[in-house]
Amino acid sequence: MTKSRLFTLLISSVVFLLIQTGCGDDIPDDLTAYTNVTIWTGTDRASQSNSALLVQNGKVYDVISMTDWDLPEETEVIDMSGLFIIPGMINAHGHVGTARGLQTGPDIHSEENVIDQLRLYARYGITTVVSLGDEPSQAFDVRDNHDPASYQMARLYLAGPVLNPGSPNEAFERVAELMGRNPDWTKIRVDDNLGRSNKMSPEVYSATIEASHEHGVPLAAHIVALEDAIGLLENGVDLIAHSVRDEPVSNEMIDLMLERDICITPTLTREISVYIYANRPDFFDDPYFLEHADSDILEELQDPEVQERYTGMAADFYREALPLAKQNMMALHNSGIRVALGTDSGPPARFQGYFEHMEMEMMQDAGMHPGDILHSATRYAAECMQIDDAVGTLEPGKHADFVVLTENPFSDIRNLREIEAVYIGGREIE
Ligand SMILES: [Zn+2]
Repeated sequence: MTKSRLFTLLISSVVFLLIQTGCGDDIPDDLTAYTNVTIWTGTDRASQSNSALLVQNGKVYDVISMTDWDLPEETEVIDMSGLFIIPGMINAHGHVGTARGLQTGPDIHSEENVIDQLRLYARYGITTVVSLGDEPSQAFDVRDNHDPASYQMARLYLAGPVLNPGSPNEAFERVAELMGRNPDWTKIRVDDNLGRSNKMSPEVYSATIEASHEHGVPLAAHIVALEDAIGLLENGVDLIAHSVRDEPVSNEMIDLMLERDICITPTLTREISVYIYANRPDFFDDPYFLEHADSDILEELQDPEVQERYTGMAADFYREALPLAKQNMMALHNSGIRVALGTDSGPPARFQGYFEHMEMEMMQDAGMHPGDILHSATRYAAECMQIDDAVGTLEPGKHADFVVLTENPFSDIRNLREIEAVYIGGREIE
């Protein structure tokens, strides 16, 4: 017998004895334990092998080392030898219920569509989605009335209609109206669409931010230009919802973000989605994509008339802006600013679930380490979106939302594709 086998036997005997002899008085007897697994809790603590995740009533009870095992014999034990557990991933900037396939508009608005999309996110390990704007009212009904664990769907946070007031007074009115729906965030767009529309003025956006803050709700801003990002930061914006895509980020922007600890969601896949369908994209052959893709939509996207829509001025601008967007993401990241996973998935041809993995792979290709990306997709996303009391890490009291992997994601972010199981509120997604 080798030394390690002997050791394993010894440990097993100790564990067996502990189980037989009962345990500490205050440990509840209705726990589920996912055992013999490597766990990264999403905190600064490194992954721990030979651990157990303890879950009670859909919440994390604790994470313990197997060597400290001292649990009641009633504990339900699920052996996960050889596997990895990470917190469920969070998309800090998605959209739900706004499209179905390539279709948009009121005809496709339904609770069913919202639920289908949240289920799709969940299957890809995205267990929470912050939908940043223009959701139908049915999305609020889903958020308010349906339990994510029983519906096997991602948790949902919402911003409601993107606000576009014409004056400071109107800003206060629009924000007040929106509060009836109890949004988690508010959202504005400060962008002239490459000269094709009017840009919201600083006077109006500062009033909108002020109004939102009066109601205690944080505000996210869509931007393209550095100048607008700076103006918004000076006026109290709470999230920069896209990369700066017109020039390199400046020290002024970096300082403003650091000063108030403001995050960014780079949404690199958003740029891709504007031009990639001009030709048949490579990922149409990716089995991980095809697993959940609708073949009708793929066919539609290969129709020459549809492909034509992905060419022209906007397509050219965003394709050419992508290297700068990546460079700016890295400059902010290297300055200590938290980058939160965000994709802008949900509108037509921005494929929910798959695009989050593509985004993280692009973040890695741009130079971020897998460990940093894992933080972006869990704890940082939760902190940045102010939902870290509920999700983001596997700490006691938080939802037992987690992803079980067969490969270690810290060695390559592509290993996040190797999903064995996804749990939401302690329940395994089918
Ligand atoms: Zn968006």
